[in-house]
Amino acid sequence: MSDKNSKIIKVEDLVKKYGDVTAVNNISFTIDEGDIFAFLGPNGAGKSTAIKILTTVLQPTSGRIKVDGYDAAVEKEKHKIRKAIGVIFQDHTLDNELTAYENLYYHSVLYKVPKEERKERIETMLNNIGLWKSRNNIIKTFSGGMKRRVEIIRGLLHYPKILILDEPTSGLDAQTRYFLWNHIQKINQEDKITIFLTTHNLEEAEKVARNIAIIDNGQILASGNLEQIKEKANTASLEKAFLEITGYALR
Ligand code: ADP
Repeated sequence: MSDKNSKIIKVEDLVKKYGDVTAVNNISFTIDEGDIFAFLGPNGAGKSTAIKILTTVLQPTSGRIKVDGYDAAVEKEKHKIRKAIGVIFQDHTLDNELTAYENLYYHSVLYKVPKEERKERIETMLNNIGLWKSRNNIIKTFSGGMKRRVEIIRGLLHYPKILILDEPTSGLDAQTRYFLWNHIQKINQEDKITIFLTTHNLEEAEKVARNIAIIDNGQILASGNLEQIKEKANTASLEKAFLEITGYALR
């Protein structure tokens, strides 16, 4: 059963080794229900590995993970975790040969959205994201920003409590990035969905994230709310704090 209190994600002493490479080296953190939490770190820090473990795609070497009260180590609870999470991976994962509507429809079947709700849910969500008119166009005709928008609503179709976004705005133009961050904040505020994200855009992270963990070489170097992170590094911007904490400011 779920032992919710206010921590929707609990990670304790998590380790992941790929052969000789320790990608995640004994990290612990918790995420409050309703938070916008940013996991920040340079390439190779271990962010994607941690996300794959959280979403039960990858088995950890050791450590304990609870999502929405369910234990990732318990086989029977894994599907409950998958239900609780919507995930948008860094790489595009839509079927290029299908229309936007078809992509969403197949996903809603796969994730067991009740049949009587599917059409209306997809229509509402396509409208929310401004793509209803493009629903019958095939994905390969879409811009990168349009694809990202479809991926975001696809991640939300099955009513998850948590949305995980790995680099949601990389490679997109300023207008699309602005639109997406606004939309992510709206989902958080209006639908009370907990957001867990990674981004290399620290200016944008500073605008949206309430709590932050800075990770490098598989270890968490600092965590806390935005103000605490900036205070720790004694700087006024998250970007400066990030560079200071990861030691890159001196290199
Ligand atoms: P990030 O998402 O922060 O860029 P990753 O989690 O992708 O970091 O990678 C963390 C470390 O683990 C890196 O050193 C990377 O090369 C290594 N790594 C990631 N995936 C694999 C894999 N499948 N096999 C071996 N090493 C991997």
